[in-house]
Amino acid sequence: MSLAYEEGVEFDASGSVKVRVPAKINLHLGCGPLRPDGFHDLTTVYQAISLYDDLHVMRADDLTLTIEGEGAAALPVDEGNLAIRAVQALAAHTGHEPLARLHLTKHIPVAGGLAGGSADAAAALVACDALWGTGLSRDELAKIAADLGSDVPFLILGGTALGTGRGEQVNPVLAGGGWHWVVAVADGGLSTPEVYREIDRLRDLGIAPRPAGPPDQLLAALRQHDPAVLAAALVNDLQAAAISLRPQLRNTLRAGKDEGALAALVSGSGPTCLFLAESSEHASLLATRLTGRGVCRTVRLAHGPVPGARVFA
Ligand code: ATP
Repeated sequence: MSLAYEEGVEFDASGSVKVRVPAKINLHLGCGPLRPDGFHDLTTVYQAISLYDDLHVMRADDLTLTIEGEGAAALPVDEGNLAIRAVQALAAHTGHEPLARLHLTKHIPVAGGLAGGSADAAAALVACDALWGTGLSRDELAKIAADLGSDVPFLILGGTALGTGRGEQVNPVLAGGGWHWVVAVADGGLSTPEVYREIDRLRDLGIAPRPAGPPDQLLAALRQHDPAVLAAALVNDLQAAAISLRPQLRNTLRAGKDEGALAALVSGSGPTCLFLAESSEHASLLATRLTGRGVCRTVRLAHGPVPGARVFA
C-alpha cells in the first residue's frame, strides 16, 4: 500500500521508499577564478540526462548502506559516501534520528564528471524526506543539498537549469525536450579537485583558454530547438584541464566527431565524453560506430532533460 505525501511524492506504508536520480551534464561550464573559500566561481547550464542511480531506503534501527552496480566495490559505505552524509545532514536539520537502511544501485560512472556522488546525496535527501515525512519545503531541502555539494541542489531540481555561485544556486531555464546524447565512459575516473588545480595551473602559465563569458548563446540555442545550433554553443572551460591530465581524451573526442557527432565535449571535470546527435536514430548509429573505434570503456545512450531525484514505484 502506498500513502500520498506532499507534492504527489509517495511512500510505502511498510516504510520503504525508492528514488531514481539522474546524472548531470554541463552544456555550458564557465569557470571563473579561485575564490578565497577555495571554490571557483561558476556559471553553468546543467542538464539532467537519462543515466540513473536507484536508491532504496528502508526503515531500520541503524544507518547502513549497501551498493551494487557500476564501480560499487571501490565506493565507501560509511560517512565517506555522500548518500550517508545526506541522511545525517537531513537528520541533524530536522531532529530526526539518522536511522535507515540504504541500498544503492549505481549506473552512473564513478568520478566521471557526471556528479554520481552528488546524485546519490540528492536521492538520499528526497528518499529520507519522504520516509520520515519531514515536511521540509523544497527551499529548505535545497539549502541542505547545497551544504552537501555544489551539484546536489540541481540533482533535486533536474531538467535544464542555470547554476551560479559555485553551481549551487539553480534556476530552471527553458530548454525544450529531446536532446540526444552519446556518452563515452572512460576507463577510470578523474579527481574533480585535481582538474580544478590543473585549470588554475594552465591559466597561470597562460596556456588555457580565458574563462567563458555568460551563457547567452547557449540559452538562445536551447530555445531554438535546433541541435546544430546547440552544437555550436556548447562550452566547457574544464576541458583543457581534463585533456591535459588525460591526453587520450583527444582521441575519444576526435573519434566522435569523425563518426558524425554534431559536437564533442568533455563532461564536467571528465573523463566522460559527450557527443550531441541529431535524433535518437542518429545517436544509436553514432554509439555503434563509436563502440567500434575502441576509444572508451563503454558507450551509453541518453536523452535530456529529465526530472531530478523522484520517488518511484
Ligand atoms: P563531480 O563532478 O560532482 O565531482 P564526479 O562524477 O566527477 O562528480 P563522483 O562519481 O560524484 O564524481 O565521485 C567522486 C568521488 O566521490 C569518488 O571518487 C568517490 O570516492 C566519492 N563518492 C562518495 N560517495 C559517492 C557515491 N555515492 N557515488 C560515487 N562516488 C562517491
